[in-house]
Amino acid sequence: MARYIGPVCRQCRREGMKLFLKGERCHTEKCAIEKRNFSPGQHGKDRKPKLVGYGLQLREKQKARRYYQLLEGQFRNLFEKAAAMKGVTGDNLLNMLERRLDNVIYRMGFGTSRAQARQVVRHGHVEVNGRKVNIPSYMVKPNDVIEIREKSKKNAGILAARDATAHAPAPNWLEVDRDALKARVLAQPKREDLVQIQLNEQLIVELYSK
Ligand code: SF4
Repeated sequence: MARYIGPVCRQCRREGMKLFLKGERCHTEKCAIEKRNFSPGQHGKDRKPKLVGYGLQLREKQKARRYYQLLEGQFRNLFEKAAAMKGVTGDNLLNMLERRLDNVIYRMGFGTSRAQARQVVRHGHVEVNGRKVNIPSYMVKPNDVIEIREKSKKNAGILAARDATAHAPAPNWLEVDRDALKARVLAQPKREDLVQIQLNEQLIVELYSK
């Protein structure tokens, strides 16, 4: 499947904020936002565009898409599904982004970044309700039990990620047993549990509704 293979920190610099794409490095002074918080490119340092209207909406969408590490087509598809559901489209969109299995593994702390969590899923280390699931876009729902599979419980990468993320609390909608490498979904994620970054989902809705 297609994926972004360019410099990761460049995406944060483009959005002018930490998007936490590189695991523990994001919390150190090596973070590119700490060292060079200006847009990438030859004239990035001099250019500070004042964003209004479409530009603002586009940046908000790109920020969300990059934060959740999705390609444009995947993000757009999710938006279409969110728009077709009952309720507020922006809330539905954030809810679906959070309930993706790769994001849940990241939130559980068994991957230091969403990219690593996605690899954990793709490589078949995860089961949901006792059945192996290797599809990162799989949507979890309340009462689902997500667990690292028995044969992967000694996987060095997963254990290292768990130890490295010990300081990060799990969101309220997940009950995580870090020792047993499992979690239960307690409820639907709420808006206030959702993101580490400031996100105005209404601007994304306006962009895609043009
Ligand atoms: Fe790179 Fe992480 Fe810093 Fe973003 S937050 S610039 S991914 S180190």
